[in-house]
Amino acid sequence: MRNIGIIGSGVVGLLAAHGLRQAGHQVTLYSDKTPEQWLQSRPTGTAARFGLSLQLERELGLNHWDDEVPWVEGAHITVCPAPRNRLLTLTGRMRERFLAIDVRLQSHRWMKGLVERGGRIELESVTVERLEEIAAAHELTLVAAGRAELCQLFERDAARSVYDTPQRQLALMCIKGPKLRFDNLPLVPVKFNALPGVGEVFYMPYHHKDVGPSWNCLFEAKPGGPLDRFREAKSGEQVVELAKGLFREFFPWDADWFQDAELSDSQGWLVGAFTPTVRQPVGRLPSGREVMALGDTVMSLDPVGGQGANNGYKQVRNLLECVAAHGERPFGAAWMSATFERFYARHGHPTNTFNNLLLEPITPAVRELLMAQYGSDGREDNRSAVQRLADAFAENFNDPASLTSVIQNPRSTRDFIAGTTGGPWFSALARGGLGVAWGQLRQKLGLDPRTPPLAA
Ligand SMILES: Cc1cc2nc3c(=O)[nH]c(=O)nc-3n(C[C@H](O)[C@H](O)[C@H](O)COP(=O)(O)OP(=O)(O)OC[C@H]3O[C@@H](n4cnc5c(N)ncnc54)[C@H](O)[C@@H]3O)c2cc1C
Repeated sequence: MRNIGIIGSGVVGLLAAHGLRQAGHQVTLYSDKTPEQWLQSRPTGTAARFGLSLQLERELGLNHWDDEVPWVEGAHITVCPAPRNRLLTLTGRMRERFLAIDVRLQSHRWMKGLVERGGRIELESVTVERLEEIAAAHELTLVAAGRAELCQLFERDAARSVYDTPQRQLALMCIKGPKLRFDNLPLVPVKFNALPGVGEVFYMPYHHKDVGPSWNCLFEAKPGGPLDRFREAKSGEQVVELAKGLFREFFPWDADWFQDAELSDSQGWLVGAFTPTVRQPVGRLPSGREVMALGDTVMSLDPVGGQGANNGYKQVRNLLECVAAHGERPFGAAWMSATFERFYARHGHPTNTFNNLLLEPITPAVRELLMAQYGSDGREDNRSAVQRLADAFAENFNDPASLTSVIQNPRSTRDFIAGTTGGPWFSALARGGLGVAWGQLRQKLGLDPRTPPLAA
């Protein structure tokens, strides 16, 4: 049995605490909030969690909400070359359904559960001086403090951190009112409208701490661009009203659906920006003692790909495996680095690459894949080649290692299209191109583009 200290009661710190407890270790978690204070706080993010993450929750017995949550089955992506213009849609069904639970509810319940399972919780905001004492008292100290002050203990990894400024201005809102299904879609999706060069909006079913099944909506605006309208917002109500205006102006096909949206709770919103950053996993305290970073503290990703929390879960699974394999030997800087590198090679690198790809203009390879899958409608019984392409793209959000290296390269993307459709890549592209052109013509005539699945 090892004696391990963890700073931070966000999803990642708590998941690590539960995993280490289940493995029989002594765990002390240092939290700056009580479970009740979590319920009164701001959400850290939407935190959609996909199959690989949910598998870990089930193994740790932390999936308390399975019978209540509004499950999500896939992704419905609309690419818009200009406001109000639907160029094409992708409707991909994921292998496993997924969910987004209010992280405030989750931390509240998981903190209580940790104590019931024999973990200790100390309520304090840990300073660097206090971290010295904690590190001295534990064999391993993990810092899962998100992007708060303590992350400065871990040096920025310049080679892995592509950006030095925020890439998006964010506006998140927990909302109730809009109905949980879309009449023209055969699955419950996360909806993602992308306006390349301008930004994105996505909205997905959400299990809110007070109102239960509802929605979470996130605007991602390129700084200084036409969607960047939330900076001065002073209240959640104002954020929701601004969002209604933007739906009408940019994405009118869902404006009526969004019209009745109301804030789910007075704290259920966020406005701000941060720079995506990868840090070194080992932090040295003034005394020379070493502590290890976990979750957002070591990798802080823009929410555009819904990857931050999922990436944290993958770090935790890797950590649990490495602790188990290490036996009774001391945990030093070399072990901490090797543990992180093991994770980074399998998951961190493809996740970082995929997420950054989504922040950039659409590459020719991704454009071809999107064209080739034209016609996907997300129906459960759809076994067509175009549906398989769309499903593979959606599945990459669960495991970015599955397709990211393929879509980085035009040649491997064409091989993938040919291999999946069983015909030449250019046939799939030509067929998709015709569909897109038809949709554009219809819109010019003032008609609905009838992009799938409306055409189905
Ligand atoms: C708008 C938005 C949308 C998002 N959507 C998604 C999504 O759809 N899917 C996804 O996977 N990810 C998403 N994310 C990212 C996700 O929310 C984070 O990756 C995840 O919550 C990070 O968890 P964490 O435990 O590492 O850090 P946090 O959730 O930040 O938790 C850290 C905790 O440590 C506490 N703390 C800090 N300093 C101290 C201290 N000195 N002493 C004691 N406690 C301290 C903090 O108060 C906090 O409670 C989104 C993020 C944002 C901003």
